[in-house]
Amino acid sequence: MNNRIIITYGQDLWKMTRDVLNESELGKIIPKGSYIGIKPNLVLAKPSSSGATTSPVIVSALIEYLNEHGHNNIVILESSWIGDSTKRSFKVCGYEDVSKKYNVPLFDIKQDTYTIKSFNGMDMEISDKLLSLDFLINIPVLKGHCQTLVTGALKNMKGCLSDREKRRFHARGLHKPIAYLNKIIKQDFILVDGMCGDLDFEEGGNPVQMNRIFCGTDPVLIDAHIAETIGYKPHDVEYIQIANDIGVGSSDIDNAEIIVLSKDESIAKPSSSRKVQKLSQYVNAKEACSACYANLIRALARLADEGLLYRFKNNPILIGQGYKAVKGSGIGIGQCTSGICKNVAGCPPSTTAIIDFLKNL
Ligand code: SF4
Repeated sequence: MNNRIIITYGQDLWKMTRDVLNESELGKIIPKGSYIGIKPNLVLAKPSSSGATTSPVIVSALIEYLNEHGHNNIVILESSWIGDSTKRSFKVCGYEDVSKKYNVPLFDIKQDTYTIKSFNGMDMEISDKLLSLDFLINIPVLKGHCQTLVTGALKNMKGCLSDREKRRFHARGLHKPIAYLNKIIKQDFILVDGMCGDLDFEEGGNPVQMNRIFCGTDPVLIDAHIAETIGYKPHDVEYIQIANDIGVGSSDIDNAEIIVLSKDESIAKPSSSRKVQKLSQYVNAKEACSACYANLIRALARLADEGLLYRFKNNPILIGQGYKAVKGSGIGIGQCTSGICKNVAGCPPSTTAIIDFLKNL
């Protein structure tokens, strides 16, 4: 089903998941006796209603479906973003309950060992648990991202790295390493939680009800569809274009077969907010990590609400690993800018810490 995407709309998440799985015949695609990994997006400890994380209902419906088709050797694996505990995410996002109910173990990739793999001369530390799997099912959330515009199947694989490697990904500019990572790791099946993803931030807080679930086997095609759903062309998103060019999959969404199982006419098509672009004009970012950058953007949104952004019009705020060796005057966010005269500490600093800092300058 490489050039196919199966999609359904509605509000009954359990039924929708079962419907797309039945249509895909996933049970027959997976070789008997496979060790199956389920990789949700639990970027931080917030419930799926926040627009940040994969709903445990989808994962529960998937596990029941797999069990019914004779697949019982399953693990749920994830690593939350830098600064957040995966174990806390498992608990807050409802995955401890899923684990107990179906007797499926949870695996924290932050506690794993790693093997260095490389593509095109770029080394990266990959989870050994991930590498031990026979079949990988990826369940990203359809949502926006303040640095890469969108996040979906390709970027969700970043949770299969060590934290040290995640930092290096940001230093390398995100797009190329995300594409290369997907040349190293093969995801076998993708089921997208498109119920209420955030349109601006990967950590949620601005969920938009989209009421759709879709699946496929080509992560590039899936992400091309996600990009279009949010209001971008696939080539607007650099890592989708690179992944297409190096043969991870095809972004040719115009020639894809889109099978719609059921429609929900009452749901408006989402469009991405441009709010982030407006706020980012006050920032000079160089290789900033997502959590850090997102916290700053959110802090600026709060300052905008209070009419305080004018203070930074001619004094841009510095953030990111590219400032590690820089010393001098200015305003710096996070430990990487500790050489900057006015600085807030933390890796990453919290949104509230940034707000307090900026307000009291
Ligand atoms: S301070 Fe921010 S940009 Fe620097 S490593 Fe920490 S999270 Fe990343």
